[in-house]
Amino acid sequence: MLKKKIIFILSIIGVVFSSFLVYSQYFQNTSLTSVNISDRILIWITTLFLLIYYLKLDNKPQLVPATMNTEKKKKDESPNENNQKKPDVSFNDVAGLEEVKEELQETIDFINHPHKYMSMGAKIPKGILFYGPPGTGKTLLAKAVAGETNSNFLYSSGSEFVEKYVGVGAKRIRTLFEKAKKDAPSIIFIDEIDAIGSRRNAESNNEKDQTLNQLLVELDGFNRSNTVVVIGATNRLDLLDEALLRPGRFDRHIRVGNPNIRSREEILKVHTKNKPLEDSVNVDDIAKKTHGFSGAQLANIANEAAIIAVRNQKRKIDLQDFEFAIERVVAGLEVKNPSVLLKEKNIVANHEAGHAIVGKILNVDMIQKISIVPRGEALGYVLKFPDEDRYLLTKEELLNKIKVLLAGKAAEEIIFKEVTTGASNDLEKATEIAKEMVCKYGMSSIGNISIKEQYVKVNFNKIDKEIKKIINSCFEESVKLIKDNRTILNDVANLLLEKEVLTGNELDEIFNRHKRTPINTT
Ligand code: ATP
Repeated sequence: MLKKKIIFILSIIGVVFSSFLVYSQYFQNTSLTSVNISDRILIWITTLFLLIYYLKLDNKPQLVPATMNTEKKKKDESPNENNQKKPDVSFNDVAGLEEVKEELQETIDFINHPHKYMSMGAKIPKGILFYGPPGTGKTLLAKAVAGETNSNFLYSSGSEFVEKYVGVGAKRIRTLFEKAKKDAPSIIFIDEIDAIGSRRNAESNNEKDQTLNQLLVELDGFNRSNTVVVIGATNRLDLLDEALLRPGRFDRHIRVGNPNIRSREEILKVHTKNKPLEDSVNVDDIAKKTHGFSGAQLANIANEAAIIAVRNQKRKIDLQDFEFAIERVVAGLEVKNPSVLLKEKNIVANHEAGHAIVGKILNVDMIQKISIVPRGEALGYVLKFPDEDRYLLTKEELLNKIKVLLAGKAAEEIIFKEVTTGASNDLEKATEIAKEMVCKYGMSSIGNISIKEQYVKVNFNKIDKEIKKIINSCFEESVKLIKDNRTILNDVANLLLEKEVLTGNELDEIFNRHKRTPINTT
């Protein structure tokens, strides 16, 4: 707008000045007669140019400002439009995930030596789909493929293509692919591809369908000489439209899951490579204590540990810094000067002691720490981790997990004869496990069936009855265990009230004193 106004004002000045020049040419009685002919011609040409430019600007359509503005904004912001570059990431920066890297070798070879494959009549794999939980390294892997092949990396996120105006998303897809083809070899990476690629149905909207159709068209449209590979990433493979997954489109599906203990070690090594560590820091031990963590969480722990070390004015990062960092990631920020009433503290101490003693008796996970120092939203927590990576769980193990979750509430009921709101999160998790046992694992009297989410509503009463049966019997079991071990519970709760934090060893000592051993060693 401002540009248009300036051009307009300059044009008017030009026209007025040019008119005076013409006037002075014929009437020879103004001070402008001294301007020589070449200057006059220059002024007239400039004025003419300004006028034409102004008229052209004025001719641009004004009726769809919202679309045009968003389009322009997106263009400026979108990294795939302006900031695409060759990443300096290689497979060496991706720790673990050996099987995924192996699977990608062929694609890399194809991009690096296309003629070898083309002479055999082979077509380049067009689409690769990474799926798995968040933070497991999908983006990092895609960047590494670009790095290994010296290709341009065009990053985009599915949500960038979701627009209100029909056709805008489709246009962006077209532009993205045109750019990729122009700058080939390139890797197009579409994160959260489910935002545009989710299954179409009667209710899906026109804009989204058009965007997805355009993506399908572009995937079909590569010719053999374009070394362009599209990598999509999603946390929900099950949501994607069949058409997107068929051969010739995203036909290579690669699961990128949470790392196992070996991979966790590797990832921690990558992220502590340039950090000064005390000799006491054993990466293998940290890997053991971070079961279920994603690569992103491990990277975060390494960074947090470094920040904590700096805050405490240390010259090297020690084990304690890592332990604080893990706690911070698991339980959130420690609340400074919490205003928890003494009565509440007592309830929290008994609640956490309940979790800890039932967990220890049933041998569910290794207890590392019990704390009643508020962190994040929790007033207390038990820090625990399994002693090894587990891929299969028995019915008994799942029931034991539920018992441990319900043990906090059970302890409150036994000691205070009333319950508080503190168990809501435990109940949510326990119910979820029970629901999966009924609907997913065939571990209830409903039988060996899997009940999809859309049928849960239809069978609600049956499912609800089974879930309640599991939860109630587990709760009874927890109550019994706590009643039988009430003296241990009292000792643990009292020590917690005194010290606020108990270590796994201190818990062991209390158990030893009471000559209590775990009853379950599976
Ligand atoms: P999302 O699904 O949320 O988009 P993602 O799977 O794409 O997540 P990335 O963005 O690739 O995850 O990973 C985030 C960060 O975690 C990386 O930048 C890297 O620092 C770290 N990371 C994850 N996995 C690994 C790994 N295998 N090796 C090294 N670092 C990793």
